[in-house]
Amino acid sequence: MSNSRRLFFALPLPAALQQQVIHWRANAFQPEDGRPVAAANLHLTLAFLGDVSTQKELALKTLAGRIRQTGFNLCLDDLGHWPRPGVVWLGSKRAPRALLQLAELLRSQAARSGCYQSPLPFYPHITLLRAATKPVAVPPATPGWRFSVDHFSLYQSVIEHGRTRYHPLAQWPLNTQDTQ
Ligand code: ATP
Ligand code: MG
Repeated sequence: MSNSRRLFFALPLPAALQQQVIHWRANAFQPEDGRPVAAANLHLTLAFLGDVSTQKELALKTLAGRIRQTGFNLCLDDLGHWPRPGVVWLGSKRAPRALLQLAELLRSQAARSGCYQSPLPFYPHITLLRAATKPVAVPPATPGWRFSVDHFSLYQSVIEHGRTRYHPLAQWPLNTQDTQ
């Protein structure tokens, strides 16, 4: 499929928060713990779409534009290690209902449009380290960053000069009147 692009919906991290997270990470982990994800690549995936044709991309954008969801505050107060995929992640002890609803909607729209969706339960997280397959001394606490989420985005994932980059293609606002 030459005209297809590798796409996913995600929440970006505000630039200032990206910097706070990577400075904290530099002290919290050892180099042998894993490979740090680049600051600009820190994100929370809502729905992975895989390789999508131009036509399907347009349809998915139209559906995304019809979503009416409330914004929410996200508290990053949880940290964990999944040794099998080799991921150290940042997450939320209590994921906001609006976040779960948004992801569920995007994932069901994706599935109905023919994008395979993993049957595994959705666990919202931000990958901090990759190739973290050995035991990691996970620090006991994160600073508990909190930020307001007022939009979600569609990204294209590309490999440039051997590195994965995400190009933002579109974004849609979340209703900020009722931020939880
Ligand atoms: P790499 O180029 O090393 O694979 P990456 O995993 O960040 O880097 P992508 O594979 O394009 O880049 O994935 C983009 C986002 O979608 C990431 O958050 C990734 O964890 C997630 N993702 C990738 N594949 C799947 C999948 N099959 N199911 C669910 N999420 C996925
Ligand atoms: Mg990948």
